[in-house]
Amino acid sequence: MRLAERAIGISPSPTLSIDSKAKKMMAEGLDVINFGVGEPDFDTPDNIKQAAIEAIKKGMTKYTPVPGTDKLRAAIAMKLKEENGLDYQPSQIVVSAGAKHSLYNAFQVLCQEGDEVILPAPYWVSYLEQIKLAGASPVIVSTRASEGFKLTPGDLEAAITGKTRIIVINSPSNPTGAVYTRSELKALGEILEGRSIAIISDEIYEKLIYDGLEHVSIASLSPGLKEHTVVINGLSKSHAMTGWRIGYAAAASPVAKAMADLQSHSTSNPNSIAQAASVEALQGAREPLREMVREFNRRRDYMLERVNAVPGLSCSKPGGAFYLFPDMSPYIGKLYNGKKIVGASDLAAVLLEEARVALVPGVAFGDDHCFRLSYATSMEKISEGMNRIEKLLAQIK
Ligand code: PMP
Ligand code: GLU
Repeated sequence: MRLAERAIGISPSPTLSIDSKAKKMMAEGLDVINFGVGEPDFDTPDNIKQAAIEAIKKGMTKYTPVPGTDKLRAAIAMKLKEENGLDYQPSQIVVSAGAKHSLYNAFQVLCQEGDEVILPAPYWVSYLEQIKLAGASPVIVSTRASEGFKLTPGDLEAAITGKTRIIVINSPSNPTGAVYTRSELKALGEILEGRSIAIISDEIYEKLIYDGLEHVSIASLSPGLKEHTVVINGLSKSHAMTGWRIGYAAAASPVAKAMADLQSHSTSNPNSIAQAASVEALQGAREPLREMVREFNRRRDYMLERVNAVPGLSCSKPGGAFYLFPDMSPYIGKLYNGKKIVGASDLAAVLLEEARVALVPGVAFGDDHCFRLSYATSMEKISEGMNRIEKLLAQIK
């Protein structure tokens, strides 16, 4: 059977592939430390699980409106107002099967053949494929570690052409953990305002933020920016609900309507039970989230110290998410057991095979001088995994 060109061009998600490879090795009895996975290791809080059980008992097991239940959309509108200073009507909110699905819908309704989408690198793996699937061309703009991996106004200005239709902003960032400040976003916003460039603002790591930093949604900076922004968020990271598959988008009414219409022909409504649980997640107790953030903060500090103590690795302090993105350039061109290390991909392969540590090489995010370590795992595992990395890297000459 012939496959469509669109399908032939898709490469599978490297983050998910590495995670499944690590899990397969573990199932075979191998002792693998998994720093590959981008998923909170905490359990979904009990009050949220209980709300799902109640929903099943009450028979909330049928189709819901395509863009989500009235209750959940009202709860999201309230959250956006109280926490982000954003005024959206519930009708401007579309709930989907995870933030990845919301992003997919957004690119599908906003992009067409010939459009350019500015994608700051390092970028999260799925943006690139989703932009291409929507028929547009990604314009990758590299950022620098020395500038905290953040897009500068100069970089942005230089990347804009007559074909630019969208820019992706992801703060806090996966994979770098970079958090844009209000004034950095303002400076980018000033360049974007007045040009009809849409902003896809992926705020999924909003709650995982440290050192007293503030999460700012670029949409909250002016009515003009809000009009042009699609805010993407979800429950996966903030409430340890990756498997429940609930994400959402908030946008100007015609965009929200187009996303809902598209969804009506693909997945229809997101899972009814997970929607009921998400209302509780947004309105219930905050303590489990605070506890999770405290623990991530502790792990970040420890892992960062360990990484920077390894000769040849360097990593700046990320302000959010649960990743470190260290530079490994000094190892490029060196040998491990006679095998040349050409980039982070080779290093990742050796670490998995020889040291049984899974991590994601930077090439997946557009920068193979670095690799991504997820600290969404226990302190014991972080300590053991760092011991193994340290030991193996010492053998690269
Ligand atoms: N955006 C970013 C930057 C992510 O890291 C993830 C996590 N995979 C997502 C979106 C999607 O999250 P989910 O589909 O689980 O809501
Ligand atoms: N966001 C996670 C990661 O980057 C989950 C995997 C995925 O959806 O790509 O590892």
